[in-house]
Amino acid sequence: MKQINVAHVRKWMGLNRKNIRAPQAISTICPHCGERVVFTARAHFHDEKRESVACTGACPSCSEYVHFWAMDPKSSESTAEEDPETLFMSPAGDIEKEPVNFPIEMPESLERAYLSAVEAHGTANYSATALCCKQAMEKIFAHLLPAEKASIGLSEAIAEIHENHDLARPLEKLSASTGSGGQLERHFEMECEFTAETSKAMVELLEHLITYLYVIPQEIENIEVKFDEAA
Ligand SMILES: [Zn+2]
Repeated sequence: MKQINVAHVRKWMGLNRKNIRAPQAISTICPHCGERVVFTARAHFHDEKRESVACTGACPSCSEYVHFWAMDPKSSESTAEEDPETLFMSPAGDIEKEPVNFPIEMPESLERAYLSAVEAHGTANYSATALCCKQAMEKIFAHLLPAEKASIGLSEAIAEIHENHDLARPLEKLSASTGSGGQLERHFEMECEFTAETSKAMVELLEHLITYLYVIPQEIENIEVKFDEAA
């Protein structure tokens, strides 16, 4: 089960006497075959106690069934501007990719390149995805380089960053913060008052560290293996 964007509903219909707004046509990537298709939803069921509408569609490409649930359905007279229903799909599949909402300001051209890559993948245009990914990777590294080096090749840019960019700087800062008198050390020693916010920030710090030190190196290895196998 996974949540999908309500904007994927291409057509709504009015269900039963209460005229409940229910999805009729849903455009999404089929979790079974990976094609972007439009599911025509049938066998609608309005579950009043759970405030949801369930329905099922067969993939026009592979004929496999996919189930959908629209939560908190409105009357069909309501407009799309009102609170949208949350939409879930099962099985989830592992092909479709929603864009990550990065919690940082990033250069606009990088954001555009990233979103184009996700969109190209979302339309099952895989050669365009490869092109957009290359462009986005170039932007990632170009923005870290001085302007005069911004147009060197991707591999050279990565090597340049590796040699000249202080990639260990976040660890240096963390080391200072956990050292004597540092902000984190004061929190660990219970010298500061805790709030829900600082408590949440600490757990998030753990998550970022796990991602930075364990997940990213392992994921880069895994991706290399995946590409080797596909070659
Ligand atoms: Zn399919």
